[in-house]
Amino acid sequence: MRHKIEKTWEQRDMESVFHPFTDFGTLNSKGPVVLTHGDGIRVFDVHGKSYIDANSGLWNNVAGFNHQGIIDALCQQARKFPGYHSFFGRVADTTVALAEKLVELSPFSDGKVYFTNSGSEANDSVVKMLWMLHRRNGQSQRRKIITRLNAYHGVTVATASMTGKAYNAEFGLPLPGFLQTDCPHYWRFGRDGESELEFSQRLARNLEELIIKEGADTIAGMFAEPVQGAGGVIPPSEGYFEEIRPILRKYKIPLIADEVICGFGRTGTMWGSVKYNMEPDAIVASKCITAGYFPMGAVILGKELSEELIRVSEEAEEFPHGFTAGGNPLGCAVALKSIEVIENEGLMENVVKVSPHFMQRLRKLGEHKYAGEARGVGLMGAVEIVADKKTKQALPSELQISERIANKALEKGLICRPLGAAIVLGPAFIITEKEIDEIFDILEETMVEVFSDVGL
Ligand SMILES: *Cc1c(COP(=O)(O)O)cnc(C)c1O
Repeated sequence: MRHKIEKTWEQRDMESVFHPFTDFGTLNSKGPVVLTHGDGIRVFDVHGKSYIDANSGLWNNVAGFNHQGIIDALCQQARKFPGYHSFFGRVADTTVALAEKLVELSPFSDGKVYFTNSGSEANDSVVKMLWMLHRRNGQSQRRKIITRLNAYHGVTVATASMTGKAYNAEFGLPLPGFLQTDCPHYWRFGRDGESELEFSQRLARNLEELIIKEGADTIAGMFAEPVQGAGGVIPPSEGYFEEIRPILRKYKIPLIADEVICGFGRTGTMWGSVKYNMEPDAIVASKCITAGYFPMGAVILGKELSEELIRVSEEAEEFPHGFTAGGNPLGCAVALKSIEVIENEGLMENVVKVSPHFMQRLRKLGEHKYAGEARGVGLMGAVEIVADKKTKQALPSELQISERIANKALEKGLICRPLGAAIVLGPAFIITEKEIDEIFDILEETMVEVFSDVGL
């Protein structure tokens, strides 16, 4: 009898998994990293090799990978009532408790929560809410959505159309009616002699011109991340939201804060939209809401928007939209516990405490000859690689410099994320200063080696 040759996990992955957002060149040459478990901010692969994860998964595993309190909350809920929907006026008690908690945490005096399973679904749901609302209000032409260059709002057909990234051309997106305004990145788009505030004012004028050109009564709403995340960690330029807010009010265009990354402490405060004076009409949350332990998205509607939506839904008899697993009580129990851990077990305090050290090490990395800008806030940061600090010219894209850096770092046991020409970091909220040093020590060493490898 022939012996069956055992395949490795890597081979099994290559034969069975179709990976999202994965560089196939790297995958085919280096193979996947198959993980088994985590401890604190570290994860372990099938060979027992450990990696320090400087991205907390995808921004979301903020309490580390083995938080007993959150695991217990999940198990307890599983024993009590493991799943129910929220259709037809039915709902799990735990789901109600989380909705109350989210409204209480929000900057709104009152409001309502709509549950989904992901950030994309939450943004997509808001688009449908706005479309229905305007249509019921006799403005069925009010359908256009404004977002910004480099925005990331998700991957559904509508939210990919709202994502200001070139790769969506692969799908023939954006759909018509999805408009793009400027990205508030002063270092990249500021003009010679223009102050940061003048830059924000110019962007606000451009936004108003776009609104007038398109017709204010054709625009359903504007979506913005407080700090652009997947666009490469771009905090807004000085005064940006203060400048655009009055314009949106003037034309009665709702502003939605996509807090999928910023929400629950990433910037050192509960909401990025509060930190940057966005004064949104609704907040979209996901990622940190369950510390990465369960899929969940939520739309927190402010008082005015929720009242209007309830009114038009009563007229229509229902809001004809919902996800089977939206508001699943397992996720809600996990979210309630995760939020408690962030608020009351020192995670938020820790972000505030270690952020100055994180930013200081990031800025030091930014002194590297080929580092154009080191930027960030709270526990999110990026260093952008350029050929020339002055002209901000990028290195030839064939060099794949950020991919190279991330691949080499991985060999050294560090997970960090290449994003365009930048390396992006977003560690867990439990990170210590010592672990921050470990990340940056590896990254500094890696950059020196990679630049010497490519002959720079
Ligand atoms: C990740 C992300 C989304 C999409 O969330 P998914 O859960 O991946 O669908 C939307 N908006 C922002 C700002 C994000 O970072």
